[in-house]
Amino acid sequence: MARIVMKFGGTSVADLDRIRRVAALVAAEHANGNEVAVVVSAMSGETNRLVGFVDDLSADSNAGGEIDDEYDAIVASGEQVTSGLLSIALRRRGVKARSWQGWQIPLQTDGAHASARIKGIETLAFNQSLKDGVVGVVAGFQGISPQGRVSTLGRGGSDTSAVALAVALKADRCDIYTDVDGVYTTDPRIVPEARRLGRIAFEEMLELASQGAKVLQTRSVELAMNNNLPIRVLTSFKDVDEDNPGTLVCSEESFKGDKIMEERVVSGVAYSRDEAQISLLRLNDIPGVVARVCGAMSEANISVDMIVQGTSRREDSANLVFTIGRRDLDKTLAALEANKEKIGFDGLLVNDKVSKVSVVGIGMRSHAGVAHTMFSALAERNINIEVIATSEIKISVLIDADMTELAVRALHSAFELGVSLGNSKGNSMGDSTGDSKGDN
Ligand code: ASP
Ligand code: MG
Repeated sequence: MARIVMKFGGTSVADLDRIRRVAALVAAEHANGNEVAVVVSAMSGETNRLVGFVDDLSADSNAGGEIDDEYDAIVASGEQVTSGLLSIALRRRGVKARSWQGWQIPLQTDGAHASARIKGIETLAFNQSLKDGVVGVVAGFQGISPQGRVSTLGRGGSDTSAVALAVALKADRCDIYTDVDGVYTTDPRIVPEARRLGRIAFEEMLELASQGAKVLQTRSVELAMNNNLPIRVLTSFKDVDEDNPGTLVCSEESFKGDKIMEERVVSGVAYSRDEAQISLLRLNDIPGVVARVCGAMSEANISVDMIVQGTSRREDSANLVFTIGRRDLDKTLAALEANKEKIGFDGLLVNDKVSKVSVVGIGMRSHAGVAHTMFSALAERNINIEVIATSEIKISVLIDADMTELAVRALHSAFELGVSLGNSKGNSMGDSTGDSKGDN
């Protein structure tokens, strides 16, 4: 007997027939004698619909201040519905089941509404229910704040609910079911030859997720890595008895001795179109200027991603280029305007037609030449690079947004990600992300 957490994303519970299919998958695990906890998202499109109501109404005026607490009360309702529906579907198959809302478990969070962090999970009652053979169907994405209010974990947060629950329950497995059958070397909609990866290291998945791969919420990968909890990403669209190995996201140590994994330099190519580039021109070239820029950004709660400083044509001044999330563009311009005197810059350019393309792989640590291969492949396609950023296992470039697909294809083929190196265990190699687009 094992203890299993199964998580189903929005597309897996998009309508009643899909909920019936999910019930069959859950019932099969339960029939094998396992203790099963299920975490569900809202039906696909539902959270967006609810967010739309909130945006509409809150645009009426600025009177009355913050509304994030009520945003949470509203958007958390999507998950409440699916947890109840799946419980009914399970009961109609003769499986004992009940729904659990975040506050009922309770899953405690901090008070940062709309992006709350999990503080702890009280498992006593939930555990007992599992031991009694009842499938626990948990509404993902939501918890309870220290003030006793409903809180939510940020978009895509039910992945994090699932991983946190698996850690708290000391589960043997955490299976995340979605609309793609695993993590791919890159987005198969851009590169049809993209391949499903058999395994991927936590660190790689973390980079891919934060560089734009949408298959798992970044925070869920972080949590899994910190607790060394392997996650399996697989699809709910296959039948119970069909082959559905998915992708195992696990520690690098579990690859040791696997020749294929050791030969793999790059595991995937990710991209993000949600970027904007800011150039501050003719800054005073004196100590403390960059700190002042970053200070203004962090005060406004804006995270700065890539940063480069270069000399300007005027000798005593410098130019500073950095990127931010495009949704923060208005906030960024306001913060720069407000701090213009203090920072001391002369000109400002904005480019919101940029995207970021990244190659990721733990093999980069021990293989030379990755940068050369990458930049040559881009140069051959005449793709101009605006900004470069690197980490131990990642190289990212900022390029013209119109070049995104060309760059992703060029890099996928330059690193031969679509080519199987022949793996006796049936691990597929390939591009990076298996982007699950409609899963929220
Ligand atoms: N339903 C929420 C969202 O759309 C949470 C999730 O699906 O993970 O972001
Ligand atoms: Mg998701």
